[in-house]
Amino acid sequence: MSTFHFTNLTGGAEIGANCYSIETGGHRILLDTGSHPKKAGTAGLPQLGLVPDDSVDAIIMSHAHQDHIGSLPVAMRRHPRAPVLMTEPTRLLGGIMLHNSVNVMLAEQASGSGHAPLFSHREVDSGERRWLARPLRQKFDLTGERVGPGDAAEVTVEFSDAGHILGSAGTLLRSGGRTLFYAGDVQFDDQNISPGADFPDFAKEPCDVMIMESTYGSRARPEGFTRAGETERLATAIEAVFARGGCVLMPLFALGKTQEFLSIFHGLRARGRLRRDCPIYIGGLGAKLTETYDKLARKTPRLQPNLDLLNDVAPFVVGAQNLADLRVRPRRIFALSSGMMTEKTLSNVFARQFLSTPENSIFFVGYADPESPAGRLRAAGTGGKISLGPDHPEETVRCGIEPFNFSAHASRETIRAYVKRAKPRKLIFVHGDPESSKWLADAAREDLPGTEVLTPAPGVRVEL
Ligand SMILES: [Zn+2]
Repeated sequence: MSTFHFTNLTGGAEIGANCYSIETGGHRILLDTGSHPKKAGTAGLPQLGLVPDDSVDAIIMSHAHQDHIGSLPVAMRRHPRAPVLMTEPTRLLGGIMLHNSVNVMLAEQASGSGHAPLFSHREVDSGERRWLARPLRQKFDLTGERVGPGDAAEVTVEFSDAGHILGSAGTLLRSGGRTLFYAGDVQFDDQNISPGADFPDFAKEPCDVMIMESTYGSRARPEGFTRAGETERLATAIEAVFARGGCVLMPLFALGKTQEFLSIFHGLRARGRLRRDCPIYIGGLGAKLTETYDKLARKTPRLQPNLDLLNDVAPFVVGAQNLADLRVRPRRIFALSSGMMTEKTLSNVFARQFLSTPENSIFFVGYADPESPAGRLRAAGTGGKISLGPDHPEETVRCGIEPFNFSAHASRETIRAYVKRAKPRKLIFVHGDPESSKWLADAAREDLPGTEVLTPAPGVRVEL
């Protein structure tokens, strides 16, 4: 029987640069190589130096969000033999995301930040030759070779759909008769176009180790909450803003949230709950990623596979070039990234035109770090004071501020139920603040007295 050794290489106990090292059967695997969305330069990297150079046999990518893929070229440079295993959508979306990161890093450098880009466009392009796209529910080895029922392989990998964004996958590792399941980011409930996760049920095969995210561990799902009900509440809120002559800004992640909301707007228009002539604006990165969603709509787990987001919803695309021409006019929806309103992003720059006008509203629809500009603005609320960055003098918020819940992350209740069914022998919570991991760990200890529940500190190597 092989054992697993786990080391959390994330910068801290937080949702930041996700990266985990697994050693098993004489092999080392990295699960995700993210970068911290708010930290520039090397400060945003995971603790890649805790693993010796050229010691990794494979890198596995759960999905293409920056906090999971953002340091991949750096990790690949350190481990020049390691293939990178991922789903086909993650391969396509990941290339777009990393090239966008290079553009952001070049812009930071040009503005005198003092940080040189961590990698170049050319390095992303050449690295993609080692990216191997593999289908869901198929066994392959660490070199990406398919493993049939009679084939012997020391360690095998199998992906299953995680329901978080297009291409997101949980990873089941089998090694010497034992199993380890890494959930990555997961949503068990259906979103508007992403169906809920289709994870292994571990009815026939025991789960020895499970690594589970805990983003919403500290927040209870409100009584009676449904996504359909939340969509109605959103429609009513948009109507109210339009009726008083205002417009709506929704800070959104370019990947995942933008596409979900294009489909939500399409549904609202079809039901007469949103004016057909209401212009919708999205960012250039969001538009590019949406092309991939449209291209793969019929080849991936997907609700409404016939909905062509760019053609059927026909959003206007905003770039850095035409941002200055963009006017805050009544009865428009600005669905702009980033979701956390990180400085210099479209939503941060554009919000400054919004704050002083009581007719307008900013709607927050997903996760935002409490310390991020979006987190601080949501907490400040109407009447509060906010500075959106060093170049923005503090001002009083006069526009409406409304939170909604359209999360791409599982509720703590659905995570608890899945863990209880899967009965892992050992359970590790990651990807959450300490309070969130603690709630889920306490719940799991109550539900599964025979399970060892761990929240290992970053940098500590644990035998499982
Ligand atoms: Zn994610």
